[in-house]
Amino acid sequence: MSKVDLHVHSTASDGRYSPREIIRMAVARGLEYLALTDHDSVDGIEEATRTAEEYPGLTFIPGVEISTDVADGEIHMLGYFIDHTDRRLREALEEFRTSRENRAQGMVKKLAGLGMPLEWERVQELAGDGSIGRPHIARAMLEKGYISSFEEAFEKYIGRGCPAYVERKKMTPQEAVRLVLDGGGLPVLAHPFTVANPEGWLKELKPAGLIGVEAYYRDNTPEATSATLSLAERYGLIVTGGSDYHGIGESHEVGLGGVMVPVTAAEGLIRLARERGIPRASQRP
Ligand code: AMP
Ligand code: ZN
Ligand code: FE
Ligand code: FE
Repeated sequence: MSKVDLHVHSTASDGRYSPREIIRMAVARGLEYLALTDHDSVDGIEEATRTAEEYPGLTFIPGVEISTDVADGEIHMLGYFIDHTDRRLREALEEFRTSRENRAQGMVKKLAGLGMPLEWERVQELAGDGSIGRPHIARAMLEKGYISSFEEAFEKYIGRGCPAYVERKKMTPQEAVRLVLDGGGLPVLAHPFTVANPEGWLKELKPAGLIGVEAYYRDNTPEATSATLSLAERYGLIVTGGSDYHGIGESHEVGLGGVMVPVTAAEGLIRLARERGIPRASQRP
């Protein structure tokens, strides 16, 4: 079991467990460093921070994950130590969530056209207060019996390039880097192999202010991890890692803390945050 997990989702986006539950699970599993990184939302940070204060053995790192579509795949930008109270960051994320809502409605419409009507109210209910995403649509499809597994939704209908897929709001990865920096955080490229040419993107995003890359990840082969470690070294980036835990039982899911991430990765992230004078990193041991 890892002592570090820096990529986790809660009910603030498409995860199953509340921020409070996530913190308690992390403690029960003996994690020492945990970051909450909900899709386009910092709404879980307050609750997670407050809960983590009850457990001095756990260092909690506030985070966010911002998704962008690019020609060769998807770029997801993790933002660590962001100031979740920052008004401009909150407004920008709010806009993303509105566009996620429109996007989800678009996909529901396309599914209806394919003979698989869903009740929009049910999809909203599954999303709750969290930012709505394709997993909520997949769950509604499962309930209706249109598919027999969660993954089937992505493979046949709502995955990129599939007939019910709708693109998200246009934002460039450079803009995502800027949004994180302006929100007082440290931008890190998540799961670099969701694009065809990760190196090209690292080269491009480093001068924009990217500080790290996620080297330890659920779907990585050992080769993918070592390739990422070499790229990080070549471009002067720190490395992070995590499970991308959602708790919704996708077949490729590993548990919270289920990806081995060295403690040095968390320490390196915290050190950099302190060097940059980020106050949210200052009271950490
Ligand atoms: P969205 O934010 O709406 O683009 O949805 C992205 C989320 O859908 C990811 O964070 C995963 O939780 C989930 N997801 C994406 N692709 C797949 C897949 N092939 N199988 C299962 N879940 C997926
Ligand atoms: Zn997700
Ligand atoms: Fe992601
Ligand atoms: Fe994620």
